[in-house]
Amino acid sequence: MQELTHYLNGAHVKGTSGRFSDVFNPATGEVQAKCPLANADEMDQAVKYAMAAQPAWAAVNPQRRARVMMKFVDLLNRDMDKLAEALSREHGKTLPDAAGDVQRGLEVVEYCIGAPELLKGDYTDSAGPGIDMYSMRQPLGVSAGITPFNFPAMIPMWMFAPAIVCGNAFILKPSERDPSVPLMLAELLEEAGLPKGIIQVVNGDKEAVDAILHHPVIQSVGFVGSTPIAEYIYGTGCSNGKRVQCFGGAKNHMIIMPDADLDQAADALIGAGYGAAGERCMAISVAVPVGDETADRLIEKLVPRIEKLKVGPYTAGKDVDYGPVVTGAAKANIERLVQTGIDQGATLVVDGREFNLQGYEDGFFVGPHLFDNVTKDMDIYKQEIFGPVLSCVRAKTYEEALGLAMDHEMGNGTAIFTRDGDAARDFANRVNVGMIGINVPIPVPLAYHTFGGWKKSVFGDLNQHGPDAFKFYTRTKTVTSRWPSGIKEGGEFNFKPME
Ligand code: NAD
Repeated sequence: MQELTHYLNGAHVKGTSGRFSDVFNPATGEVQAKCPLANADEMDQAVKYAMAAQPAWAAVNPQRRARVMMKFVDLLNRDMDKLAEALSREHGKTLPDAAGDVQRGLEVVEYCIGAPELLKGDYTDSAGPGIDMYSMRQPLGVSAGITPFNFPAMIPMWMFAPAIVCGNAFILKPSERDPSVPLMLAELLEEAGLPKGIIQVVNGDKEAVDAILHHPVIQSVGFVGSTPIAEYIYGTGCSNGKRVQCFGGAKNHMIIMPDADLDQAADALIGAGYGAAGERCMAISVAVPVGDETADRLIEKLVPRIEKLKVGPYTAGKDVDYGPVVTGAAKANIERLVQTGIDQGATLVVDGREFNLQGYEDGFFVGPHLFDNVTKDMDIYKQEIFGPVLSCVRAKTYEEALGLAMDHEMGNGTAIFTRDGDAARDFANRVNVGMIGINVPIPVPLAYHTFGGWKKSVFGDLNQHGPDAFKFYTRTKTVTSRWPSGIKEGGEFNFKPME
């Protein structure tokens, strides 16, 4: 059994706490590795290494720091297949999805190559008589990030790329369910020329997270994961005086207007609802057709498409649409919620419960499900299922459909499918959700925009990546200066030469 490590001060280091968690191969259900779970002493050691390394890194000029990111991009491209394979093996997603996970993180690294431009300060000449004023952005010192299992490459890169290029040292606490790719990324960063101690990976669970939240040296904490943990980390981190940004769960609605191209909408729902087994924070989990006729036609188009979906292990190649979910516990939770949907009166139009893959009986595969006639009071509507389960909530009018997205406590992403520009514009302006798609089902902003939801999908003020990241990982210092004048009237120089 492989024993994974931490990555501290440029070296793989075995865990010393004596506690481990299982890392599964989700396709077979086998335990393939043990992940060490750090205690507070191990976290403290990482912080000490980070503190020792950070001042020299902050003193490296931004252009040179950006060059490390350039080289890192080259190495990510060189190792893309290796990274994708390691990612699929622990997460279960298909190889193209895994490569996409790396690619979307890589794009944030590319954006960070612009650090010299993005870190440039502001300057006001002659703010008063003989007075100039300038602002600069300085690194925070030691930053930490806690990331979820579902994007083990992209989300760590969302955080550590801007943190590091701004001159911070970064401690990553990745998900204990798929920690191998984060360890590989740390190695690649050092191969790209990053000094040791600037990126460290400390594996663990709540104990390691609490050690971050209570460590007096750590200045900022980034978190992405489920809403209850986001709320806990935000509250605890803020009360300990840290800068904190937390991104939580989602329940993304797609409104389908009667004038929409229903084939396009159905195709979009297949990708957005079932892709990556529904384990995406930007997955569409609720379809809201407007009008019964639209709903009936949409269901008619969805059913054969869902029945054609191929579910299998990543090793089966490109024909597979989605793989297993991450753990047996995740699978059991999805099955429990499906049963709740049936018990509470939703119509199970496509029943994935009997799905069974020959040769992979112990894998964590979940067949695709489609519920119709879901209502606002049902648990499958209120809760995030995070599995291949799409719920259809029928709305009579556009206002009712908009109201559903507005009233849900989550506000990560949403989409509208229509040919009516006015309806699309109204929706984008009024809906209280952070990321909106117009005939685009998964409207994930690119690296140079910012990513973030509203309502219970986020805690904190600044979004991920884009210009917000450079604000989050720096603090502003503003200097007001006046120099005694050495120039006499007539232009003569007044100062005595230095002795
Ligand atoms: P999770 O909340 O279980 O875990 C996230 C991180 O928190 C992990 O590193 C984990 O070790 C740690 N953690 C777990 N329990 C903890 C506890 N009690 N105290 C302290 N730390 C704890 O989330 P997950 O299952 O890994 O990821 C799926 C969730 O993440 C979904 O809810 C999904 O919507 C959300 N997500 C959100 C975004 C976003 O940008 N909003 C992106 C991706 C995933």
